[in-house]
Amino acid sequence: MNFSLLFSHVLLKGKSVLLIFLPFTFGLPALRRTLLWRSIMGLSGLLSGHRNSVQGSDFHNYTSWLKQYPSGLESFESIMKELPRKKIVVFLDYDGTLSPIVDDPDRAFMSPEMREAVREVAKGFPTAIISGRSREKVKEFVKLRNLHYAGSHGLDIMSPNSDNEANGVSYQPAKKFLPKIQQIKRVLEEETRKIEGALVEDNTFCVSVHFRHVHERELAELEKKVETVMEKYPDFHVTQGKKVMEIRPTINWNKGHAMEYYLHSLGHNDTDDVVPLYIGDDQTDEDAFKVIQRKGHGIAILVASIPKHTNASYSLKDPSEVLAFLLRLARWRNSTAPSITTPSPNI
Ligand SMILES: [Mg+2]
Repeated sequence: MNFSLLFSHVLLKGKSVLLIFLPFTFGLPALRRTLLWRSIMGLSGLLSGHRNSVQGSDFHNYTSWLKQYPSGLESFESIMKELPRKKIVVFLDYDGTLSPIVDDPDRAFMSPEMREAVREVAKGFPTAIISGRSREKVKEFVKLRNLHYAGSHGLDIMSPNSDNEANGVSYQPAKKFLPKIQQIKRVLEEETRKIEGALVEDNTFCVSVHFRHVHERELAELEKKVETVMEKYPDFHVTQGKKVMEIRPTINWNKGHAMEYYLHSLGHNDTDDVVPLYIGDDQTDEDAFKVIQRKGHGIAILVASIPKHTNASYSLKDPSEVLAFLLRLARWRNSTAPSITTPSPNI
């Protein structure tokens, strides 16, 4: 094959570039691998030709993916057909699930319609919000009382009826790490100060380094700085979310544990009569999906507009579909199930 033929082949088969590079990306740190992949994917997109053809391909991929992870809206009747006598406990992620992903994390507001839908759902089902944000911050965004709130990816749990309601906290499994987390936050703020657009967010038991506004040429430097700082804290680890690096203490506790904690504290663990229904878009939500999958009991719904690997069984495309699903769930509750004694959430 001469060079012009080879180049034509690459132009027509952009995806083959990915296969050539694939073996070389393993062994790189997670963030660097992601950045490299993003560059390759961008190159592949350019090499693959017109934007329209990429969209067409994406549409085809998404349609195929939906066969494996059907829409929670379109499957609503078949999901609920099995559940009229079950008690459903609802778990909701916040960012990207109840609110759109936005440039400024402090402005990730949920719409009044979404708040009303969550309020209606919580009238009929025990409902918990499990977010990577600090508990106070997510509560301030949601503004509903009598929900259960877990912040810091489940490391900071509060229940409205918990025994120590006076201070509003029921369980903080990583409490002993708090001084070190504050120290890490201060060091990261200092170290990343000169990287334009980098934002260090204090989420109580999790420090988030946002890089949505960092120029691509400075991403590797930012990652290096975070890596260097974290080498001094071996009992912490870094994971990557959407344009964010998240630093958490390495303990055996995640959103899946938080979900089980709530089920247990509500007296609902290990009973087939109770079904967790979990909706989320984060990588950290996969821990809860895994619990549901392992138990073979519950409804796990991933929010995603592009195909991705998940342990969920169903999907919703974006927060607007989450809104439609929650409204339908509340209507279904009102029309089919007897009333239960869940306190009404108030602003
Ligand atoms: Mg999320």
